[in-house]
Amino acid sequence: MIKIGIPRALLYYQYYPMWQTFFEELGAEVIVSPPTTQLMLSDGSSRLVADTCLPVKVFVGHVLSLVDKCDYIFIPAIRSMKSKSYNCSKFLGLPDMTRAVVPEAPPILDIEIDINRGKRSLYQAIYSLGRHFTWNPYKVRRAATTAWQAHLNYLELMTSQRLTPPKAIGKLSGVAEAEPGTHSSQPNSATIALIGHPYLLYDEHINHRLIHRLEQAHKRVLTPEMLTAEELQSATARVVGRAYWTYEEEVVGVGEHYLKSGANGVIGIMVFGCGPDSVMMDMVHRQSARLRTTPFMSITLEEHTAEAGIVTRLEAFLDMIDRRQKRQVEACV
Ligand code: SF4
Repeated sequence: MIKIGIPRALLYYQYYPMWQTFFEELGAEVIVSPPTTQLMLSDGSSRLVADTCLPVKVFVGHVLSLVDKCDYIFIPAIRSMKSKSYNCSKFLGLPDMTRAVVPEAPPILDIEIDINRGKRSLYQAIYSLGRHFTWNPYKVRRAATTAWQAHLNYLELMTSQRLTPPKAIGKLSGVAEAEPGTHSSQPNSATIALIGHPYLLYDEHINHRLIHRLEQAHKRVLTPEMLTAEELQSATARVVGRAYWTYEEEVVGVGEHYLKSGANGVIGIMVFGCGPDSVMMDMVHRQSARLRTTPFMSITLEEHTAEAGIVTRLEAFLDMIDRRQKRQVEACV
């Protein structure tokens, strides 16, 4: 059986159930790299120039961990998944960059997805990917249709049950997700919304177990994937009109939504050196200053971010939220 390696990084959190279904429908075995470790980050970092953003360094570390474990590594170049809305340029060159910096990697299965080029180009890309496994176009078509349905089910599961991607993936695969999500919130506990890219919010090594820490403090945690597409679009439209960057919805739209409803505090997570985020997170910051309804804090992560620094800031923020909630309750009595 052909083994396909999928790095647990970048777009994994958005599309893993779809990719897994597609390859398994075509008779392949899917192998996912383990959760990020410091060694993986150091290995990835050693192959790239210093100013590459942290998530890409982590991605390369995951590729290196898969090198002798699979026959192919799947690395799509996703330019856009929505009409006139584009991914960060780092995603477009990912297959070529990986070939250049990890020459010992097994052959890379790449596919370029750009919805703006029309359905014909999308179908051609899917068929050429499927041809590595079968020459039967009907089989590829059936695998693609089943995979798309798996993706829709995954999105529905996250919004309807308010699950994070790791928990939803765990649930879909029948494996209990040990972390995050093991601590229950108390009845009047504060709700904290997190905004940022999924590869920052759910990689526990990069963010120093942020969700786990919030849950340990008995806070309820809301994340971007828990909102419906309609909620995201309408919130984004109120701030920027039409989103040009895919991630405007995850940052600006989610920020706008949670600053106005559903959260006692909002935390924005970004990485040092990320151009799109520095602009988008600033918009959320300004919006929070204008509204003055919900406290906002942003955390910038980088390779050498100290855990103690994150913990101190988090504790101070949560303290402030708790005191604020207490004052509001006392004012109502
Ligand atoms: S959006 Fe920012 S963090 Fe994400 S890949 Fe692009 S530069 Fe890196």
